[in-house]
Amino acid sequence: MVNGQWSRLLRDANSVTRGMEIKQCTSIMAQKTHKYSNGEVTIIWKPDICIHSTNCWKGLIEVFNPRARPWINPEGSTTEKIIEQVKKCPSGALSYFMNAEQEKIED
Ligand code: SF4
Repeated sequence: MVNGQWSRLLRDANSVTRGMEIKQCTSIMAQKTHKYSNGEVTIIWKPDICIHSTNCWKGLIEVFNPRARPWINPEGSTTEKIIEQVKKCPSGALSYFMNAEQEKIED
């Protein structure tokens, strides 16, 4: 292959890769995010990546109850138990942040 063909091939490959990255970023940004706070900790739930493993509600039904609306009740248990349970989410659909830490960042 001559130099011109190589550079054309590389240019085409780059534009395909860039297009894929933009699509992936757009889909990540489009993910829905729900937040539930008890004033101390905020639980974040991303329904689009929940794999319905049932870990959360089998582990802490007082907070994660699929029959209730809203299905997450951050007042249902202690912050420590909530954090412990959130960390067991296998998909990453659940995460949390401490409100005090977030306020420090925003100041
Ligand atoms: S533990 Fe995570 S993946 Fe499993 S049902 Fe709860 S939120 Fe969904």
